[in-house]
Amino acid sequence: MISSILILYGSQTGNAQDVAERISRESKFLDISPRILPLDSYDVSELPRETAVVFIVSTAGQVAAKKLYRRLCSLGATACLDLGLGDDQHPSGYEAALDTWLPRMWDSFCSAFQWSFGMRPDDQGQLVDLGLPKYKVTFLTATSSLPVIIDLILTEEQRLQAAVEAAAAFRRVSAQASGQRVMREDETASVSEKAQFGPSHPFLAPVLENRRITSSDHFQDVRHIALSLRGSGTMECYEPGDLVNVWPLPEASLCEAFLSRLGLDGDTLIQVQANDPPAGCHLEVSIGTIRSFIEGVLDVTGASPRRRFFQVLSHFTPDTSEIEKERLSYFSSVEGRDDLYRYNQREGRSVLEVLQDFKSANPPLEWLLETCPLMKARQFSISSSSRMHPGEAHLTVAVVDWNTPYKRRRRGLCSSYLANAAPVGSQGLGQNSACSNQHSASKVAVWVEKGSLRMPMSLLVPLILIGPGTGVAPFRSFLQHRAVLMRCRANKLNSQSSPLTSEPLKESQPSSDTDIDASCVEGGNISACDDEVEPAPCSLFFGCRYRDKDCYYEEEFRKFQQDGVLTQGEAGFCVAGSRDQPQKVYVTNKLMEHELHVWKLLENHGAHVYVSGSAQKMPSDVLATFESIVTRKGGMSMEEAKQYMRQLEFKGRYHVEAWS
Ligand SMILES: Cc1cc2nc3c(=O)[nH]c(=O)nc-3n(C[C@H](O)[C@H](O)[C@H](O)COP(=O)(O)OP(=O)(O)OC[C@H]3O[C@@H](n4cnc5c(N)ncnc54)[C@H](O)[C@@H]3O)c2cc1C
Repeated sequence: MISSILILYGSQTGNAQDVAERISRESKFLDISPRILPLDSYDVSELPRETAVVFIVSTAGQVAAKKLYRRLCSLGATACLDLGLGDDQHPSGYEAALDTWLPRMWDSFCSAFQWSFGMRPDDQGQLVDLGLPKYKVTFLTATSSLPVIIDLILTEEQRLQAAVEAAAAFRRVSAQASGQRVMREDETASVSEKAQFGPSHPFLAPVLENRRITSSDHFQDVRHIALSLRGSGTMECYEPGDLVNVWPLPEASLCEAFLSRLGLDGDTLIQVQANDPPAGCHLEVSIGTIRSFIEGVLDVTGASPRRRFFQVLSHFTPDTSEIEKERLSYFSSVEGRDDLYRYNQREGRSVLEVLQDFKSANPPLEWLLETCPLMKARQFSISSSSRMHPGEAHLTVAVVDWNTPYKRRRRGLCSSYLANAAPVGSQGLGQNSACSNQHSASKVAVWVEKGSLRMPMSLLVPLILIGPGTGVAPFRSFLQHRAVLMRCRANKLNSQSSPLTSEPLKESQPSSDTDIDASCVEGGNISACDDEVEPAPCSLFFGCRYRDKDCYYEEEFRKFQQDGVLTQGEAGFCVAGSRDQPQKVYVTNKLMEHELHVWKLLENHGAHVYVSGSAQKMPSDVLATFESIVTRKGGMSMEEAKQYMRQLEFKGRYHVEAWS
């Protein structure tokens, strides 16, 4: 090969990685040597020495891609062509834009680097020659040193343990299979790091509570889930704004259906390794039962497979099954893209369902490992404060439940897994959980991660919190934390005025559900000057559909208002019940209603603004509302108002955490 290309991707749902892998395949076809890496594994100081680099990033909205493009240009990169913007909400999915952008990308590289290609990879058919798979799967035989069949009926906890172990080991094999140099596990982490919980070693957290917090006649099931973090070390002292990653376990019966469809024995042990690891590296191997790979590594029951899966399926369908083979190769082609999108993504079809439709396809395990969607952890904002609920983390989970255009009911993998969880001690009693049964989890695999919302630790910073729906989760954590700080402050002031009667914090504030951990409070102590001045105002804008159906945590927020944690009066706790009146009312309308209050907090008191929730339109609508308030109350032009808001963001006073 004479030329090389670096492909860097940042993926959340797997789309960007899929695109990166497609570019990698096409570059091999063109005799260009590809190097493909996740952005966070790349040493950025190497960038000036690279020749041709393609960046692929998935974002909620297109802001991150545009920012990255501008930043690279400002650092001196030469753009070979314009930014390609795919949109998975497009009627034909993100591939609609990609299919036309990629040929232009190769043309641009051709002229920029004087590369010359013979054939072009425009015709997907040319890429159906599958070549060598990325993985090698060895069925461990009776002569190998390991037992071949594990003859055990696993408990839910053992299933979970096997799945997370398979996922962790496979991640290393997969990195190696993508050409990354993977350090030996014992070289990468210190003893104390190894003892910590993370993606390679999740903590199995007992479920303490699983309670529906929307009324039973409301269309949406939202759950309050309390997890125990006792014994998880530093995870116990999480901060407001932190996230919990949950590793979901698919339904056992669906995994069994998948195994039976492919005639696989789930208990058979296999060894998986990279087929072509980077030269000079030790070889990573992952050993487990087939079931542990199906349950922990692949997502065969939830996510929809991508176009490449259909190419591979077509390859492994016998010529004798003419109709199925033809259909699969049509779906794999550019011409079949829209029909594939309608059949597959829009219908939320899983790998299992596709295999049930195409009964003669028989893909081997190594190709399934390469082309099935991989299982992924889901993030949830922690909705409690570790100071108020020591040893616990609360989650506020909206159960994803929707009907496809053909009226097939779909449920989110992780949110329904959590909704079905049976709190410890309640198994078999049918309590609380959506459908508690012997397969309900009573422990879930989790680890804590820093979120992007960081709460100012001083009570003197005014806060404007905007959280429609489950977007309110991190703000419950903020407010609980603020309540603890305010109690500390009150306690301190009391003890200063009457030192002989002062009591330790815990005893002075007894409360069944707000058992404050004094040692944790010390970590987030209020500063001395905070004692002297009254805490700054704090307003929460919450959005729901109906105040009497899905205005969750209302009682707690009202109590916060009484206690001064939230500002008293209408502007302190504002609820927008969008369907409570004929005309829809959203958080943006409530912000406008209180525009003077909002403007004064921003301009005169240096308020920090936090926005959290669904990414669809809410964050941009909220930003537009702030711009409008700045023009109306600050007397600025729209251009100046936009600049004002950009400055707020730049100074770390405007924070958004949004998910799709
Ligand atoms: C930083 C961060 C914080 C988060 N915090 C929270 C939180 O506090 N609470 C919370 O509930 N969630 C939160 N989420 C979202 C959460 O991580 C999951 O994405 C969510 O629970 C869905 O996961 P799931 O496995 O149940 O659904 P999946 O099985 O992943 O299914 C979701 C997919 O289903 C499809 N889909 C869903 N609804 C429809 C529809 N109406 N029409 C068409 N397709 C549809 C979409 O493709 C969607 O991507 C957060 C996400 C992030 C990134």
